[in-house]
Amino acid sequence: MLDAPLDAPSGQTRKGRLFVLGGPSGVGKGTLRAQALADIDNLSYSISCTTRKPRVGERDGVDYHFITREDFEDKAAQGLFLEHATVHEDRYGTLREDVTRELDAGHDVLLEIDVQGAQQIQRLLPESVLIFIAPPSLEALEERLRLRRTESEDKIKLRLENAKKEMERSSDYDHIILNDVLDHASKELRDLITRGGEAPREE
Ligand code: ADP
Ligand code: 5GP
Repeated sequence: MLDAPLDAPSGQTRKGRLFVLGGPSGVGKGTLRAQALADIDNLSYSISCTTRKPRVGERDGVDYHFITREDFEDKAAQGLFLEHATVHEDRYGTLREDVTRELDAGHDVLLEIDVQGAQQIQRLLPESVLIFIAPPSLEALEERLRLRRTESEDKIKLRLENAKKEMERSSDYDHIILNDVLDHASKELRDLITRGGEAPREE
């Protein structure tokens, strides 16, 4: 469980904190996110909208809100997105209302979004905690993407090209977690979130 209020005067309900998980496709963000949500009581996940087609096993309203391009652009024009971006040729966006409702209720919120979205969040809500998940190497990343068997060869190539650009942006984030041994990375993420994004104290 999270500690007592971090930033609210006594007697006032603590507002939730926003955690942004980033990193290249295939690095393990979804895997780490699922573990963090299972382990941390006060953490909720904001389900993004996307125009990408669902993968086998993905469910509408659980993994994403899968919507049409028209619906997406309509929502964007109405200002319903807190942030949105084009990633790997598809549109992705975070619904503003979902996030503010959870934060106002005092829940911490996890977003799993790309570097463009992270930059928009940092500008809008500078107190957010940006966490970059890094692979041990580009070779390991490629292997994970291939083993996942969810993308065509063309899509894998596009994602690996984009990965190099995303890696160059890791210094924009507040924290970098290396996802080599999954259990270690998972513990590091859980500890970071339960500390409210504060770096660990030196022993
Ligand atoms: P992302 O959400 O970043 O695209 P996923 O969570 O889907 O990545 O992970 C991509 C693949 O890599 C999945 O098959 C997952 O099981 C695997 N994976 C995740 N973390 C590790 C790890 N530390 N070592 C080896 N494989 C991993
Ligand atoms: P995938 O298609 O593999 O689920 O996601 C592809 C990329 O889109 C990942 O980098 C993921 O973090 C990003 N993404 C998912 N949802 C959002 C969102 O709501 N906004 C932004 N900016 N990126 C997102």
